[in-house]
Amino acid sequence: MSDQIEMNCQTLVELVTEYLEGTLPERDRERLEAHLAVCDGCTRYLAQIRTTIRLTGMLRTEDLRPEARDALLEVYRAWRADTD
Ligand SMILES: [Zn+2]
Repeated sequence: MSDQIEMNCQTLVELVTEYLEGTLPERDRERLEAHLAVCDGCTRYLAQIRTTIRLTGMLRTEDLRPEARDALLEVYRAWRADTD
């Protein structure tokens, strides 16, 4: 049909980090996106990775769950009480 090498799921998994970082060469990016267009599994996989990056990449102290923040404050109070 054509001499274009088709991308499979395994190749996509190997290249997905570069794809998300924007360092994937244009030709590979096009092949990857062509695969995404026809593969539900990889589309879900990519969405999952993007969510993970968004959650971990933007995690700041004010984003911590109340329980975790309280635990940190406890440590801080204990440390202060010690030095007083
Ligand atoms: Zn796939």
